[in-house]
Amino acid sequence: MSNGETKEVILIGAGIMSATLGSLLKELVPDWKIKVFEKLDKTGEESSNEWNNAGTGHAALCELNYTKENPDGSVDIKKAININEQFQVSKQFWAYLVDSQLIRRPQEFIMPLPHMSLVQGQKNVEFLKRRHEAMSSNPLFASMEYATDHETLKKWIPLIMENRATTDAIAATKIDSGTDVNFGALTRLLFQQLESQGVEMHYQHSVDDLKRTRDGGWEVKVRDHAGGNLENHKADFVFIGCGGGSLHLLQKSGIPEGKGIGGFPVSGIFMSCTNQEIVEQHHAKVYGKAPVGAPPMSVPHLDTRYINNKKSLLFGPFAGFSPKFLKNGSMFDLITSVKPSNVLTMLSAGVKEMGLTKYLIEQVLQSKEKRMEQLREFVPNAKSEDWELVIAGQRVQVIKDTEEGGKGTLQFGTEVVTAGDGSIAALLGASPGASTAVPVMLDIIERCFPENIKEWEPKIKEMVPSYGLSLSENPELLQKVNQTTDRALGLDQNKAIHN
Ligand SMILES: Cc1cc2nc3c(=O)[nH]c(=O)nc-3n(C[C@H](O)[C@H](O)[C@H](O)COP(=O)(O)OP(=O)(O)OC[C@H]3O[C@@H](n4cnc5c(N)ncnc54)[C@H](O)[C@@H]3O)c2cc1C
Repeated sequence: MSNGETKEVILIGAGIMSATLGSLLKELVPDWKIKVFEKLDKTGEESSNEWNNAGTGHAALCELNYTKENPDGSVDIKKAININEQFQVSKQFWAYLVDSQLIRRPQEFIMPLPHMSLVQGQKNVEFLKRRHEAMSSNPLFASMEYATDHETLKKWIPLIMENRATTDAIAATKIDSGTDVNFGALTRLLFQQLESQGVEMHYQHSVDDLKRTRDGGWEVKVRDHAGGNLENHKADFVFIGCGGGSLHLLQKSGIPEGKGIGGFPVSGIFMSCTNQEIVEQHHAKVYGKAPVGAPPMSVPHLDTRYINNKKSLLFGPFAGFSPKFLKNGSMFDLITSVKPSNVLTMLSAGVKEMGLTKYLIEQVLQSKEKRMEQLREFVPNAKSEDWELVIAGQRVQVIKDTEEGGKGTLQFGTEVVTAGDGSIAALLGASPGASTAVPVMLDIIERCFPENIKEWEPKIKEMVPSYGLSLSENPELLQKVNQTTDRALGLDQNKAIHN
């Protein structure tokens, strides 16, 4: 408890973000009262579910869109450093939860897996070499390897190298400290723990509206689907962690910080391999380059996944268009998100992003065979009968007016919106997503509870030893953090088993 005051907290939505914020608050202020309202009948069923996202522990070890090629040919790795540092924060908190026995079997949600970038064609091969030079000189990426010779590549990615001419220009980088994260399992584990610590979980309860109260708190209007009742609940602090559903509730809150923001939904489809013999021939997450005109979230990748104690193989995501903001959402989500305060922003984006909308609609209309052709760029021998389509989650990209992009600019990152008085926060956007849940929720805590943060700092540092420090600038701390997190999360032992 802080300043002698016990607060009432409402978390809306039971995905990874609410689970993370709830877990952080429970450690910082165990006697604050937390209630969770979730419209579905389970936790982690929307984007956080293991089949609805790619399960990449995004640490910028393989995603080419996190580095930019400068006009002089040099490679800017600032964004990659930032994303890696954020993932290190998440890993440290998860390691703390394991060491404190709040989570028992880390292998249920995180497994070591090499992360690789793969490019074809001479120009791309040269770019990857320059990128490798820039990245491997930073302590965060020091162990990144680079190869162009087919013999080495056959060892790294046999399935991808089958049936390729030895004259093909192809290159890859590999780093063994990558991970596959089952965010659905992690969400469930965190909520189980929170429930055992007295957090009230209300399933099949949709939040329909929320209003400020005179004392500076919030009244939250909740619909109980089972009983059909409308309930009112009060809170000092509200977190809108509804994934794609956050924008509508942010608009209903009426806070000025939420005005002028719109959302654009992009759906995802994966192909899953049904032939276990083929699944066993691949052991990595291999990220390629996004096709020209494609949004960054549709970078194709071939991923080993660990789901329900079984190794799987997924390819995608293929982007698509649906007006729904959640997989279990409504066809009216997009149209009802247009309000007088964001209509100009939305219309400007509509004009600017015609090309993207056309691209997404074309993607939806693609036949399975057309998708197989894209898969064959990765797995030349892929047979249609070994692969099936899996519908993944919806991402709602933020649209807002920015200085650089002007009116109605589509954003591909995560956006945190908080009220000036810190009584409410909402999370919008989807990338890098679940991997950065811990630093993003710590950011919300700093912004919404500035009066408590000094008092909480020692505990935050116990949970995240690198809190407030840059690991890339502190190689000794980086080494220590890597050792302790790898041991706690079982990444060192499991790496030895699988390599
Ligand atoms: C195709 C795809 C691939 C991705 N790949 C990755 C990846 O590889 N790595 C990564 O780190 N991230 C990835 N992401 C992003 C990641 O999945 C999301 O950032 C993350 O899961 C969002 O978590 P959340 O808790 O905000 O939302 P969600 O998990 O969507 O949870 C929101 C919850 O709120 C509930 N809800 C909604 N409205 C209401 C309401 N009014 N009342 C009550 N409850 C409500 C929903 O039912 C849901 O349970 C991917 C996403 C997609 C779609």
